[in-house]
Amino acid sequence: MSTENETPEIELTKYGRLPSLSGLNLDELEDFVKKLGLPKFRAKQIHGWIYSKWAKNFDEMTDLSADLRKKLSETAEVGLLNMAHLQVSSDETRKYLFQLPDGKMVESVLMAFQDRPSLTACVSSQVGCAVGCTFCATGYLGFKRNLTAQEIIDQIMSIQRESGKRVGNVVYMGQGEPLLNTDEVIDSVKRLINTVGIGARHITVSTSGIVPGIKQLAKANLPITLALSLHAPDVETREEIVPITKKYPIHEVMAAMHDYVDTTNRRVTIEYVLLKDVTDRPEQAIHLAELVKDLHCNINLIPFNPTLNPMGEALYDRPSRESQQRFKTLAARSGKTVTVRLERGTDIDAACGQLHNKYAAKR
Ligand code: SAH
Ligand code: SF4
Repeated sequence: MSTENETPEIELTKYGRLPSLSGLNLDELEDFVKKLGLPKFRAKQIHGWIYSKWAKNFDEMTDLSADLRKKLSETAEVGLLNMAHLQVSSDETRKYLFQLPDGKMVESVLMAFQDRPSLTACVSSQVGCAVGCTFCATGYLGFKRNLTAQEIIDQIMSIQRESGKRVGNVVYMGQGEPLLNTDEVIDSVKRLINTVGIGARHITVSTSGIVPGIKQLAKANLPITLALSLHAPDVETREEIVPITKKYPIHEVMAAMHDYVDTTNRRVTIEYVLLKDVTDRPEQAIHLAELVKDLHCNINLIPFNPTLNPMGEALYDRPSRESQQRFKTLAARSGKTVTVRLERGTDIDAACGQLHNKYAAKR
């Protein structure tokens, strides 16, 4: 067995970097310290520094000797992502641009909602997105690659390290379609619950309606919230604005949502983007109410955040407040709670569907 002072063997990742400890659970940290010839209790110390004190590097771990800190710094890094840019909005919303180990970029947002006592982080699950919804800026990037569970978790850890604030809620509503990256998303959710310490009931995974992914998530039976981005109750409109509807038709998606509720006993969320004259018509509100009336769900209306397509054209408008209210009243005929999503960070383009930086577009 080597001593704590010996220089360790250095194993680099495929990107030529030291491995990151972010997101590793106690067992994995024990394996890590064992490989370095260190006693098991060191793993617990490091675990506390990473997840309770949000240490940025080994130098901050002051109950470890200077030699040990040096040895650890030569072997690993605490964080995985580099913060490339941070924008803070007038309502304190923080939008982060993170660089992944291969140089690609993703965005995450930290927001405060008045109806929630703790802060909410919105995380990305992919670079770009293959689904191509016509109102979503991420959709225009196309699909670049899936994120690993560690890349998802380190968005939250990096936000905590940078802001010094605890993330209480996590929504998978940044860039990407989580249920086209289901294995890594499920792994990251489990680690958020068991290692990072986010309550399962404070985690929401949002999907455009990927039936096999919904089934896989139901099987995992985690007590989290599943949100379906329904956006239109009629086949014609939904096929137009959420093109994957042609592959996974509305009735199959709704059947999978019912099964999800039956398996997990969790109430789901129906998200519905309000696009003027496209999805905000009264007959659509009535149709929506009919469609979801037997589903154990809440309805969340999202007034469109204006985005431009790659040609610089604005394809849609946001409906007026009156039209939003009229839709809400009609949708409430379902007997469900209907809320209109509060806007956060619109002055820095941190709202839904606006996570699309020009850096990501270039890669
Ligand atoms: N891909 C997943 C999760 C990421 S998008 C999904 O589609 O559910 C998170 C939410 O923001 C989705 O409900 C999405 O439809 C919505 N959204 C995307 N672009 C938007 C825009 N410009 N205005 C309002 N909501 C938008
Ligand atoms: Fe992808 Fe969601 Fe945007 Fe659709 S709304 S393109 S599924 S990120």
